[in-house]
Amino acid sequence: MSFLKFLPLISCFFVLTLGFFVLAKKSSKAIKIIFFLFCLVVSVWLFGTFMMFRTTQDYLAIFWDRFIYAGVVFVPALMHHFSLLITKRKNQRLLLYTNYGLAFVFLFLSQTKYFVDGLFYYAWGVHTKAQFFHHIFLFQFFFFIFFLFYNIYTFYKNKANALEKAQLKYVLLAFGLLIGIGAFAYLPAYGISIFPFSFISGVLFAVVLVYAILHHRFMDIKIAIKHGSIYVGSIIVTVALTFSLWLFLNKLVYSSDIGTTVTSLIFALIIFSPLNKFIEKFANKHLFYSLYNYQETINHLTNKLTTIINLDQIIDLVVDTIKNTMRLVRSGVLLIDESKSPFQYQVAKVVGFNKKNGISLVQDNFLTRHLAVTQKPLVREELDFLSEQTKSPSDKQSFLTLKEHMTRIEASLCLPLISSNKLTGIIVLGGKVSGDAYSKEDLDLLTVLSNQASIAIENARLYQQVQDFNKTLQTKVDEQTKDIQEKAVHLEKLLKMRSEFLDIASHQLRTPTSVIKGTLAMMKEGDMEKMSPEEKAKFVEGMFQKSVKLESIINDILVASEMDTADFDIETKDEIELDKFLEKEVNEHQFDAAEKKLTLAFEKLTDGPFKIKGSIKYLEQVIDNLLDNALKYTPQGFVKATIKKEGNNAIIAISDSGIGILKDDLKRIFNKFIRGKNARNVYTDGSGLGLFIIKRIMDRHPGSKVWAESPVRQALTAGGEESKGSTFYLQFPLLK
Ligand code: ADP
Repeated sequence: MSFLKFLPLISCFFVLTLGFFVLAKKSSKAIKIIFFLFCLVVSVWLFGTFMMFRTTQDYLAIFWDRFIYAGVVFVPALMHHFSLLITKRKNQRLLLYTNYGLAFVFLFLSQTKYFVDGLFYYAWGVHTKAQFFHHIFLFQFFFFIFFLFYNIYTFYKNKANALEKAQLKYVLLAFGLLIGIGAFAYLPAYGISIFPFSFISGVLFAVVLVYAILHHRFMDIKIAIKHGSIYVGSIIVTVALTFSLWLFLNKLVYSSDIGTTVTSLIFALIIFSPLNKFIEKFANKHLFYSLYNYQETINHLTNKLTTIINLDQIIDLVVDTIKNTMRLVRSGVLLIDESKSPFQYQVAKVVGFNKKNGISLVQDNFLTRHLAVTQKPLVREELDFLSEQTKSPSDKQSFLTLKEHMTRIEASLCLPLISSNKLTGIIVLGGKVSGDAYSKEDLDLLTVLSNQASIAIENARLYQQVQDFNKTLQTKVDEQTKDIQEKAVHLEKLLKMRSEFLDIASHQLRTPTSVIKGTLAMMKEGDMEKMSPEEKAKFVEGMFQKSVKLESIINDILVASEMDTADFDIETKDEIELDKFLEKEVNEHQFDAAEKKLTLAFEKLTDGPFKIKGSIKYLEQVIDNLLDNALKYTPQGFVKATIKKEGNNAIIAISDSGIGILKDDLKRIFNKFIRGKNARNVYTDGSGLGLFIIKRIMDRHPGSKVWAESPVRQALTAGGEESKGSTFYLQFPLLK
């Protein structure tokens, strides 16, 4: 019985503690202050009741009852106010002010004998009698309490999102218990002897709300509750243990009061700190599991993310961490591939989702746009609400379509991945295994996680880009190196050619100059004077011939180097009758042929006309050179120049019965400075430039070409006597 008398006090302690915890939360929202004031007036009721039951004197009973009403008169107004704040309702202002006004009126009246006066005596204690204004107050009390339930219930039905619904259920239950049970406290005032169990309602009210706070993030005071309740718990357990010890020592061991008290206090001091630690650990593990776990998760993920640079690994870690921490059915990450235009999403990882479904979700451009703008998590349950809120009709529809989409693939939440203020991807999450809605705490955690993920993903992407850039750079360097190597090889060739040229040129130039120098030396020494006039003439003639040779070599070198440039060009405008042209050239060489006792013939193998277009100046050089060579490399026999028509072409062949050209040399003789092996024995002064010049000239005559044949090799292997010499062909397109 005596314990029951303490019930109102215990209730009072619970309600007041709850009020203080809510108030202790840093944010200064009005709802917290109103809730605190409500707890305060409820505890005034509970405390006053406790005192009223204890009192033995009638006037004190009335005093405490009036004390009670000093609090209770505010209950209707505060509850009404609370319901408006929690449901974000704005249209009952006037009613609220009236309510507060009435509260002050009743505050005044409650202190008069027209409110409560006189006492009922019951078996369990005394209670005041209700008077006239008390009846009116009761009417007002229930009238406004009806508003609390009405406001909350309609909000719950029509507007609340999933989280709010979960919270409001408990709010309704808590107030329901408080009022439903608490209202019985009025009965003794009307002479009904009911045992005052109603004070238990304070405890129940506090317990239900604490549950809502812990599990559904009600009024966001979980952390404050956590620290506070651990301390309160530790104090209660310490006091209980110390009291037990005190009882034990007092009754059984000692009889000395001071001794037992001092021992008990020392005991209390010693056990408090370890006990507090133990309770904290216990509470972290069992009561505040998710909170504890979430903080751990954030630390864990942060530490891990800093060590990973591989994009796939980061995505794996993020998806798994979120899925496991929240205990989700499914989760996935979609990343924007900006290299494609318009940009596309690629599925980085999905667990539990169908890949196609994931992509179909983000093909909804609206989602992308919405997330890019809000940069906040998007909860499926809120889409109806968002659709109602928006003014644009197309957005209204888009929200609903998005909801359909998300429902179809069973996605509950979309989190934006933002980096440098741009949307780089989306984390799509399914529902929780437990079926619970996402709480505000969940969303806070997810926001932190997605921020971290965004940074890590961005870093990984940058790293990837640097890697790719490195690779391209390497290939570029490799290419360049190859190019340089090729150039080096080419340069080496050029250097070799240059030294070949110098060899040949110096050799070619040295022979005639040494003859000229020798002859001039003889003249200087006076050796020539001893000679007969014929011998003298022979030397002078030799010197002249060599100087002519020298001039022609220098000329060849100049012409060849001029022709070797890319922009060398020939004007091929002259109309030439090729048969006559060739015949004239042949005739001009008859003297040289006769000198060498060679026959030189011209023959037209087919009928003409042999009209072509070309450059007379350069073609003279070509034919002259070929005839010169033929005569030069033919020790005996003949040289023959023929012309014939073949299709639309004229073909000139200059053949001889000379030394021929070796097969190896045949491939190269049109190159610069190339001289045949056998040619060098026969004629020492060649430059190896004649055929090169001929080839360049023919190349500049469109549709024309030059080539050589020499069957001499077989002949040489057969003993050299049957040399068939060589033939040089020139082909020109005929004019029509
Ligand atoms: P060069 O006559 O000064 O050596 P060319 O360029 O005129 O230079 O000739 C290149 C080489 O082609 C000659 O060294 C020779 O080996 C070969 N050649 C050219 N014409 C004939 C030919 N009619 N008979 C044999 N070899 C020839």
